[in-house]
Amino acid sequence: MKISIDGPAGAGKSTVAKKVAKELGFVYIDTGAMYRALTYMAIKEQIDLHNGEKLATLLVKHPIEFQIENNQQRVKIANQDVTEYIRTPEISKYVSLVAKHEQVRKEMLKIQRQLAEKGNIVMDGRDIGTNVLPDADLKIFLTASIEERAKRRYQELLLQGYKGSIEEIKQDIANRDKQDQERKFGPLKKANDAILIDTTQLSIDQVVTRILQLVKKFQEGGKNEII
Ligand code: C5P
Repeated sequence: MKISIDGPAGAGKSTVAKKVAKELGFVYIDTGAMYRALTYMAIKEQIDLHNGEKLATLLVKHPIEFQIENNQQRVKIANQDVTEYIRTPEISKYVSLVAKHEQVRKEMLKIQRQLAEKGNIVMDGRDIGTNVLPDADLKIFLTASIEERAKRRYQELLLQGYKGSIEEIKQDIANRDKQDQERKFGPLKKANDAILIDTTQLSIDQVVTRILQLVKKFQEGGKNEII
């Protein structure tokens, strides 16, 4: 079974996707981490982030891998574990610029589809239901108000020693959503057959429960049961 979870920044996709995958014993694939890892590598190698060709070449040269260590998913690029470096405000600021290039998205799509062939998966991102896995068995589009999303992200960053304001985070999220929605290739968009869940008033567990109910419906009666 293939489950896609898309939505804007900070809607809780990765937290929810991880939990759903764990409950079901599925593999979780965080495609945002892949764009973030490439952004990290590009900054490190001083590649022009406006140059899609060079970024795609970098990606082909340095494969991205997910590995489980001590029950935690680690992201590696060029054999370097970058898990701790890819969630910083700096990477968040530039990642949408890297992700907008057609050449980059084409390479990512190949890798993501290969990863999806591995079996039962939950994949989260922006264009999974629309582009990467248009035939996914269950498509979810998670959203929440911008205030709520900024609040959640702020609380997460505070734990990492963040010193900025919630306003800055709100601005960053709004900018990123705008870039992700307006790009030509693989924009952030709800697939027609995706189920919309507004998480503004919901706890993580409530969202997970709702998705697990949908999975059960699918397993009992197929796709027609859930749309
Ligand atoms: O999900 P996360 O916030 O980590 O994603 C970081 C960025 O990666 C997004 O803002 C977007 O620019 C890019 N992305 C994308 N397509 C995906 C997943 C992420 O363009 N499928």
